[in-house]
Amino acid sequence: MPKWKLVTEFTFDSAHQIRDYDGPCGRLHGHTYRVRIEATSHQLHASQYCPHPVMVADFRTLRWAKRDVTKGGLDHGVLNEVMPPEYETTAEMIAQYIYDRTKKDLPEGIKLKVAVSETPNTWAEYEDDD
Ligand SMILES: [Zn+2]
Repeated sequence: MPKWKLVTEFTFDSAHQIRDYDGPCGRLHGHTYRVRIEATSHQLHASQYCPHPVMVADFRTLRWAKRDVTKGGLDHGVLNEVMPPEYETTAEMIAQYIYDRTKKDLPEGIKLKVAVSETPNTWAEYEDDD
């Protein structure tokens, strides 16, 4: 069966604090977050911007989180204010949040994997086997 995989990486700058964390992560501070998104599919699709079925997904759709927070993205915002309260602002749950929001804008049948890095030495990755 044919299979395509898209990979895109981008960064955004934001502030956050981990609720009830006993240590520096509990205070408001910032990161340049690095995000890596993989999208795989057995078929190609049209997109919001292109009427022909020629892509796994549109990179513009996958990279929404890079947009300024005033334009619906996560850049230069306070994640604790931007993300719904059911998501804590750990790298694990930021990855899950980006996964959940991206998934909503994609056609059925695209498998996603989202990884988020807060520092050069750490990555958290999220995917769902559904
Ligand atoms: Zn932090």
